[in-house]
Amino acid sequence: MVVALGWLLGSLVPVALWPTGASAWGYEGHRVVGAIADHLLKPAAKAQVERLLNEGDTHGIDLRKAAPWLDCVKSVARHDDGRFHYEVDPEHLEYEVPCTPFNSARERARMVDYVARNWSTCSYKPDGFERGCHNTFHFVDVAIQRNSFDRALQGTNPHDLVAAISAAIAVLQDRPIPPPFPFSIRDKKEALLLLAHLIGDLHQPLHVGAVYLDPGGQPVDPDATHQVDPLTDTIGGNAIQDGVAVPFQTINLHREWDDIPTDLGDAATGELMDAARLVPPSPGAPDGWPVAWATDTLLVAHDAFKGLSFGPTVPPAQSKWVVAFDNHMDYLHAVDAIKRRQLAKGGARLAELLNAIWP
Ligand SMILES: [Zn+2]
Repeated sequence: MVVALGWLLGSLVPVALWPTGASAWGYEGHRVVGAIADHLLKPAAKAQVERLLNEGDTHGIDLRKAAPWLDCVKSVARHDDGRFHYEVDPEHLEYEVPCTPFNSARERARMVDYVARNWSTCSYKPDGFERGCHNTFHFVDVAIQRNSFDRALQGTNPHDLVAAISAAIAVLQDRPIPPPFPFSIRDKKEALLLLAHLIGDLHQPLHVGAVYLDPGGQPVDPDATHQVDPLTDTIGGNAIQDGVAVPFQTINLHREWDDIPTDLGDAATGELMDAARLVPPSPGAPDGWPVAWATDTLLVAHDAFKGLSFGPTVPPAQSKWVVAFDNHMDYLHAVDAIKRRQLAKGGARLAELLNAIWP
């Protein structure tokens, strides 16, 4: 997978930025966000979450286990005959690790149904190949030159991360999904599965803020020209390769940001719980929070791109651009601190949102 991969296991130690055989469908970061929220739910919200997540064939599902679901659905493929199937990749059985709570026939049918309903609702061809529209729900690509999220900006669209979160909130609040958002969310269980994942994505800086580059690697501003030139689209950093050469492996900038520090594991550590309890409450009504949180993450993305410069790659490189660091070790330290803060924020805000929906 090359697009919007979700948080993935990683480390501050440079060599571990290239984990051999690592799953591109990392789930640890999402589980951390869900686990923090599990601890911060108040009784009414906790009861609703437990009830909804365990409708159907799932058992013992909490937000921690639910959070990777939206990546698990990426195993649903469309065949030439137009039918959809859940397919286990025999070469990447590790992709299934976070998906085992959903591997009954009934839960797999739910995943197939979700993907089929959200496949053709937009056109999405990030690298020339048509992918299901649902893959776009994980990110938005606001230029890092901007200081706040606005739906009029380039890189936003009616099927982006902020729109998807707003749609899921509406379903949980018994409101219609606001037009023109093209989401099909079958029920509250599905809405909660979306939220448990997407609030995590909303706090990954490269899922919100994007750098657009000319062929030589100089930043360009899509809002100045009122359109995104596809040739400048870095696909959330997926088209930017790390400049440090490693034999037989390349890693892109998006993937490096999806990694989370290895000491965090895949649950809520005391350190992150302490940080989560210090996250200030969000002002206003919950339906304004997705935009406010996107703005907050966009400002964090400014820091994520500090100290970086870009240049063209040399064929046959897979990526279009290569990143260079003013000071690699300083950058890795900054990244580590940002990730911890963002995971704590994501968990705190997921709980805050669900506590507001079910007071
Ligand atoms: Zn995601």
